[in-house]
Amino acid sequence: MKTAKLKNFLLTEGLRVEVEVESRKGGAGPTGSYLIFGDSIVNFAINPESPLKLVRREDGYFIIAEEEIPVELPPKPKFHEELYEGIPMKMIARRHGKDVLASTVLQKCILKDLGKGCKFCGIELSLKSGDTVEMKLPEMLAEVSRTAKKYGDATHVTLTTGKFEDEREEIITMSKVSEAVNDASGMPVHVQITPPQNVELLEELKCDTLGIHIESFDESVLKKVAPGKFEMRERFEIVLKKAVDIFGESQVSTFVILGLGEDEMRTVEGCRRLLELGVIPYLVPFRKIRGTEMENYSQPSPEYTERVLIRVAEMMKNFGVDPRRNKAGCVKCGGCSAIGEYLREV
Ligand code: SF4
Repeated sequence: MKTAKLKNFLLTEGLRVEVEVESRKGGAGPTGSYLIFGDSIVNFAINPESPLKLVRREDGYFIIAEEEIPVELPPKPKFHEELYEGIPMKMIARRHGKDVLASTVLQKCILKDLGKGCKFCGIELSLKSGDTVEMKLPEMLAEVSRTAKKYGDATHVTLTTGKFEDEREEIITMSKVSEAVNDASGMPVHVQITPPQNVELLEELKCDTLGIHIESFDESVLKKVAPGKFEMRERFEIVLKKAVDIFGESQVSTFVILGLGEDEMRTVEGCRRLLELGVIPYLVPFRKIRGTEMENYSQPSPEYTERVLIRVAEMMKNFGVDPRRNKAGCVKCGGCSAIGEYLREV
C-alpha cells in the first residue's frame, strides 16, 4: 500500500491495537495516538473494528495489512515527567506527533459560553477532567519549551486557543506566549487564532506561521455544527489573504474537516480559492471525540477523503503551494492530514 493511501486509511479507520500506546483523549484538535512509518507520522484513533491491526514482535512494531508494514512509536517525551512549580509539565503542554510541543493557551472558548461552539471540538474536556490548567502563562510555556528542547522532545511548537471575548486580547496574549517560547527555546512557533473582525490586528501578531480554521466551506454544514464560525464566514478569506501578506506563502493554513456532510464540489472549490491566495488547506477527516455533541457521528469513508485529497493535491501542485516549506506547527507536523503525502504522490 502506498504511503498516502495507508495514512489516509489510518486517519479515517484507525487501528486495532494489541500493545499499549499513549492516547490523547481531549483538548483542541483531533485526539489520538501516534505512529511513524517511513518519513510520515500519523495521528490515529484506536478502533477495535478497524481492519488494520498494530502488533508488537521481538523485532519491532508492525501494522498487519495486505502485507506487514514496519512502524515505530515515537519515544516517550521526557518533559512529560517534569514539574513546573509543582504542576506536571504535561498539564501545560504535550508532545504531539514526534517533535511538536503543543499547548492550548486558553482552554476555554467564548463561543461555547454563548451556545455557538463547534460541536466536534473537545477544547474544554481536558480542563473538566483535571488534565490541564485553564490559562497557560508565558513564563510557564517558556520553561516547558526550554525543557522539551533540552531533552530533544520537540523542534517546533503549536499554540492554539479557544476564542477570547476580546479579539485584540487574543492576539496580544498569543503573541506574548509565542515570543516567550521562542526566546526561551529558539523553536519556531505556529499560532492558531479565530479570525479578527479588525484585520489590521494581524500586524501585531508575533509568530512564525499562522492557522485560522475555516472548518468547512459548506455554509449549511457550518451553520449546523459550528454556528459561531458560521457567523464569521465572510471574514475568513479576507483575513487569510492579509495573513499571507504578512507571513508569506505556504506559512498560513486552515483546517478543513472532511466528513461533516459537506458538499464535495464546494469543498474542492473552496480549497482552490485558498490555494490561489497561497494558503494551505489542511484537510483532516472528522474524528469523533467522546464527550462532545458529535461523539456518535460517523467517520468519513477513506474513499471519500482520498477523492478530495487527490483533487486538492493536484491543485496544490499547480499553484506551487507546498506544506514542506512551512516552518512550524500542524502543517510541518502533518500528523492529522495526508495532504502532504498525496502531494508527493500526484
Ligand atoms: S497536526 Fe500535529 S501538531 Fe497539529 S494537532 Fe495534529 S498532531 Fe497536533
